[in-house]
Amino acid sequence: MLSPTIGVLALQGDVREHLRALEAVGAEAVRCRRPEEIASVDALVLPGGESTTMAKLARTFGVFDLVRERIAAGMPVLGTCAGMILLAERVLDGAEGQETFGGLDVTVRRNAFGRQVDSFEGTVHLTGIEGAVPAVFIRAPWVEEVGAGVEVLARVEEQPDEGSGVGRSALGRIVAVRQGTVLATAFHPEMGGDPRVHGLFADMVRAALDRPGS
Ligand code: GLN
Repeated sequence: MLSPTIGVLALQGDVREHLRALEAVGAEAVRCRRPEEIASVDALVLPGGESTTMAKLARTFGVFDLVRERIAAGMPVLGTCAGMILLAERVLDGAEGQETFGGLDVTVRRNAFGRQVDSFEGTVHLTGIEGAVPAVFIRAPWVEEVGAGVEVLARVEEQPDEGSGVGRSALGRIVAVRQGTVLATAFHPEMGGDPRVHGLFADMVRAALDRPGS
């Protein structure tokens, strides 16, 4: 299949930016919210935004279990920032009773870079992409622990400026991971003006669809 249809879960968050980045890498990109829309896409993007709000809206729209089941059944999925949290099996500093779709055997810490800071920008090097990738972090999580089947693709390479207000020790923290057909970044590749992370994801989707028996 040359041009897979990749849905962007459109409950809340930066849906438009993802649609644009997917189109830039030649994917067919559609918003999806209703069950029949979510059931029909080849792959899904969980955007940045607010993970607790998105999970609640997924319940309200009656698609929470559908998304969870499709991910568990092997549908390729990309989660960025809040989307990464929604994929995580375990969440630290989550809201009370916070639910996730799961599918990614990691522990993430929500708002890990410090609560007082809204955002900072840097670059990261990501396995599978040549050169530096712009990385916009907005109240970002990081990955504290990965399970055996999870590949670490990127870490924070420089401690952000002291003036940026980023707390704790950010240096070396895991900010991009992959487990099979699940890809997740703590930053927002859809905002950096560089669509190569979406390109990597589209390649993963094409490879998954080309596999015999799929
Ligand atoms: N802090 C947000 C959350 O917990 C994520 C922020 C983002 O996606 N930019 O969902």
